[in-house]
Amino acid sequence: MPTPERLARIRAVLDRRQPDLTVLMENVSKPHNFSAILRSADAVGVLEAHAVHPTGGVPTHHRSSAGVAKWVYLRVHPDVGSAIAHLKDRGFAVYATRLSPSAVDYREVDYTRPAAVVLGSEKWGVSGEAARLADAEIVIPMLGMAQSLNVSVAAAVILFEAQRQRLAAGLYDRVRLDPATYRRVLFEWAYPEEARRLRVEGRPYPPVGEGPG
Ligand code: SAM
Repeated sequence: MPTPERLARIRAVLDRRQPDLTVLMENVSKPHNFSAILRSADAVGVLEAHAVHPTGGVPTHHRSSAGVAKWVYLRVHPDVGSAIAHLKDRGFAVYATRLSPSAVDYREVDYTRPAAVVLGSEKWGVSGEAARLADAEIVIPMLGMAQSLNVSVAAAVILFEAQRQRLAAGLYDRVRLDPATYRRVLFEWAYPEEARRLRVEGRPYPPVGEGPG
């Protein structure tokens, strides 16, 4: 049973969740990178992140940030084509992060519109297929000797640019989740065990206290 303070904190976080901002991790293979990306995603208000992984699952979470997985839903797709099709069907513009001459500076993108950022594997980067399917390629300009950033650093740089734009546009000042999603997530975050049991039994969640949920 959450304390009233805990419930208020959960509501405050949910009030700022951005259902139209997300990441797609394409074969990000190191658990600490995977978890660090989810942690940054949580910090900017991502509700649900996406991944494709050769194992069909996800890399095991690094212990130091394992807890964050509770607050960012993760949808695993069988392959990058279906992941991007899913995002486009839901109205996301898809931006592939790529160190290519045709990529545009990541700050030129309008992240106040529905946006999904594709992040590539540590070794191979974003695949040619993902780049082809994406709406645009974006790059963080590299002015030093190193060719690229660590993938979780690149994710943070781009996600916090999205946060900056969304703060300026007032997108964190009003609830962005539809009421049914708000109620569902509120219940799952406040009563995770109970939520699991009700799902298994195929029963609906009861409402949680007062407020928008
Ligand atoms: N050899 C790979 C390549 O050429 O793409 C390097 C991959 S890099 C270490 C891993 C991932 O971090 C990239 O796929 C991309 O998602 C992200 N990344 C790293 N540096 C970046 C930059 N300067 N701009 C955009 N994304 C970057």
